[in-house]
Amino acid sequence: MGSGEQLVARLQGICGAEHVLTHPDALATYRSDGLAHYRQMPLAAVLPETAEQVQRVVTTCFEAEVPWVARGSGTGLSGGALPIAEGVLIVLARLRRIISIAAAAGGTAPPSARASEDDSRPPSTAAFASTPTPAGSSRTAALSLSQG
Ligand SMILES: Cc1cc2nc3c(=O)[nH]c(=O)nc-3n(C[C@H](O)[C@H](O)[C@H](O)COP(=O)(O)OP(=O)(O)OC[C@H]3O[C@@H](n4cnc5c(N)ncnc54)[C@H](O)[C@@H]3O)c2cc1C
Repeated sequence: MGSGEQLVARLQGICGAEHVLTHPDALATYRSDGLAHYRQMPLAAVLPETAEQVQRVVTTCFEAEVPWVARGSGTGLSGGALPIAEGVLIVLARLRRIISIAAAAGGTAPPSARASEDDSRPPSTAAFASTPTPAGSSRTAALSLSQG
């Protein structure tokens, strides 16, 4: 088993085989972000579900000396989520559970919390800042609560 296969096996042990993508067809979605002019196929795309899984994936990549790139929904327009060849793309789209919302102190949410999920449970004085992105989009950068 080569080093790449060993790494994939370890990642599968952390996140489950169904959440470690290696087939070119499955990886096609993840070759680029919103800057589609640049494309790169990674060794694997990993979709952890919890912060603990993310930590273990990062540690595993570090130990294997394999570079990794974090990706939310891949809508960034500057190529920041462009995969590295022979590296791992850590897709954070499954981290959606809202941890807490508190109008006075701000909110806490994982990277891929969706606007539609938050909008269903805001305190009466809090709201998302409006952006043109459609409901259901990831708001990694836009997540903020403001006094209404
Ligand atoms: C039609 C359209 C409209 C848009 N409108 C707006 C707008 O109104 N306002 C706005 O701010 N942006 C807008 N954007 C840009 C984009 O949607 C935002 O920047 C969005 O917040 C990117 O989130 P993402 O989860 O898709 O990030 P990605 O594109 O997946 O990643 C962006 C960068 O963040 C890094 N990253 C992602 N998640 C993590 C994480 N959990 N930890 C560490 N690093 C991470 C990636 O490595 C990359 O460098 C728009 C884009 C499109 C296509």
